[in-house]
Amino acid sequence: MTFRACVLTLFPEMFPGPLGSSIPGRALKAGLWELEALDIRDFATDRHRTVDDTPFGGGAGMVLRPDVVDAAIEAGWPKTGPLVYLTPRGRVLDQELVREFAAQPSLTILCGRYEGVDERVLEAREVTEVSLGDFVLSGGEPAALALLDAVVRLLPGALGATDSLDEESFENGLLEYPHYTRPAVWQGRSVPEVLLSGHHQKVSEWRKARAEAITQTRRPDLWARYTARRAEFTNTAVGGPNGECGQ
Ligand code: SAM
Repeated sequence: MTFRACVLTLFPEMFPGPLGSSIPGRALKAGLWELEALDIRDFATDRHRTVDDTPFGGGAGMVLRPDVVDAAIEAGWPKTGPLVYLTPRGRVLDQELVREFAAQPSLTILCGRYEGVDERVLEAREVTEVSLGDFVLSGGEPAALALLDAVVRLLPGALGATDSLDEESFENGLLEYPHYTRPAVWQGRSVPEVLLSGHHQKVSEWRKARAEAITQTRRPDLWARYTARRAEFTNTAVGGPNGECGQ
């Protein structure tokens, strides 16, 4: 089944943009997913095609009008999958959420501009709010491109070798181990011996140890989750704290 992405934006010309190249571009051409970018301005009702207005209560900037945004949502959202609003106050995007989106038949993404979207339309439509990270972009479009890139590469058939996903960062709760290729010695730096040994189990153990060490030093938050899950798994496997081996 073809995954359907719809982006609601004031800048439809930004799409497919980088999504037309490389992995997402090939997947688009192969029909694994389809992309529609709807211009929110097409849903304005006055002759000036106004989409925004000043904020009630005063303050800087402009706010996207609820009536215009809602009409765009009605036209673009197939309701077979989530409606996402990209905003710095949303849940920060991670691989778990990417996987959830990739398992849906469709994803509709609302891109804000200016100060954002009138709150009432977000309440009325029960949107899922998603952030790309703790920084402020000029608009939701770069976040939509990043989100769709991450989702599309998980669609079945999008990547050439399926096992290239298995050991990627976050897939097993860890950051990835380091990679090396030819030449075996470069500027006096040698590739770790074990990688030249041809001993698959030792290579695999070395990679796991490096992935764990990198995660532990760089991302204590991920490491804490990983070790908690590992402890839970071990407890379950041996009967758990209340099981026969945990008495
Ligand atoms: N006034 C907003 C605030 O302080 O949170 C920022 C508005 S920003 C200039 C315009 C739009 O860019 C937002 O409505 C949102 O759609 C998008 N945007 C900005 N930063 C983002 C982020 N970190 N993640 C996702 N979308 C973002």
